[in-house]
Amino acid sequence: MAQLRVTTKALPEHNRQHNRSLLLQTLFHDGPMSRADLARVSGLTRVTVSDLVAELTADGLIVDLGQRPGVRIGKPAMLIALDEHAHHVVSLDLSAADAFTGAIVSLGGDIIERLTVPLAGGTGAAAVEKAIALAAALVAKSAVHVLGIGIGTPGIVDHAGVVREAPNLGWADIDLGAAFGAAFAVPVHIANDANAAVLAIHTFGKTVGRSVMLVAIGHGVGAGLIVGGVLVEGDQFAAGEIGHVIVEEDGERCECGRYGCLETAVAVPHIRSRLAAGGAAGRDAVLAEAGTALGVGLAPVIAALGLDEVVIAGPTELLAGPFLAAARETIERRTLAAVTNGLELRLAEDSDELVLLGATVPVLSRELGIS
Ligand SMILES: [Zn+2]
Repeated sequence: MAQLRVTTKALPEHNRQHNRSLLLQTLFHDGPMSRADLARVSGLTRVTVSDLVAELTADGLIVDLGQRPGVRIGKPAMLIALDEHAHHVVSLDLSAADAFTGAIVSLGGDIIERLTVPLAGGTGAAAVEKAIALAAALVAKSAVHVLGIGIGTPGIVDHAGVVREAPNLGWADIDLGAAFGAAFAVPVHIANDANAAVLAIHTFGKTVGRSVMLVAIGHGVGAGLIVGGVLVEGDQFAAGEIGHVIVEEDGERCECGRYGCLETAVAVPHIRSRLAAGGAAGRDAVLAEAGTALGVGLAPVIAALGLDEVVIAGPTELLAGPFLAAARETIERRTLAAVTNGLELRLAEDSDELVLLGATVPVLSRELGIS
């Protein structure tokens, strides 16, 4: 587990780095403000703030915006802001079944340039080479300094950047961190794709609460979890691997060899093949049945963790409507009202950009202390 955000002022035994991060974090989320406001919000003295702002300005991280607009009595306040375009992050999304996508992303989460390369069946070392070439092309294109490279990869990945297993890419104990480290001079941070997606919601979204689960429904099913503001990865880095939890005792046979896994109930290829098969029940009934299965799988997780927000990412044409309604109804029916009273269950608005955006968050967090 990793604490993501700096939110309190440092005690004397803590270092200057912490307070630099606190100021950057405050400007990142609250927008431009005066030095006096920054002192008030951060709890640091005005002298300390002025000192650190001078240092951060020299590093190109903070920019002076000039006078606050509007008429004020007395000395006008000068606004400062995070300089979102002084440094960029190169981000890779390796989660799609048929292509790798990369982007140059501003510190504020704007995608400046985007490149996609077809995977063309590439697996193993060929897939690693393809990812490195994509990142190299983006680093070369960036007009400003690249703060780091962030990668969202499918599978189970540890803190050293070793992908322990990603069956679709043919990766088993692949040291992606070392391969990128040898190819680039900038820091490289690697995260599981579902964890990256939940980080995107945490950092760039308007999150309702501090405990959020992102459920990614695509070729498979995965989840990323932030509980109490902390990313939950698990000691084996497999937290959120909910795809093979059995939700239907007499369900379809799964690739894992068992029957009725969440993945067979709600993964996109399975839903599409049931819709194509038609049947007397009709489209709405097929989608509602899948939504119900998701609700069965999620209800105990939501109850156990006391989640504020559950965001479902995937194809809107399948998930909006009967699917989401059935999932909500099932979760409410299977848990106490106290569990679901404050719960926001919704679809992600920008499903196909979540991993790309979220892969930048470990870079922002580790290099600048903001998320
Ligand atoms: Zn399974």
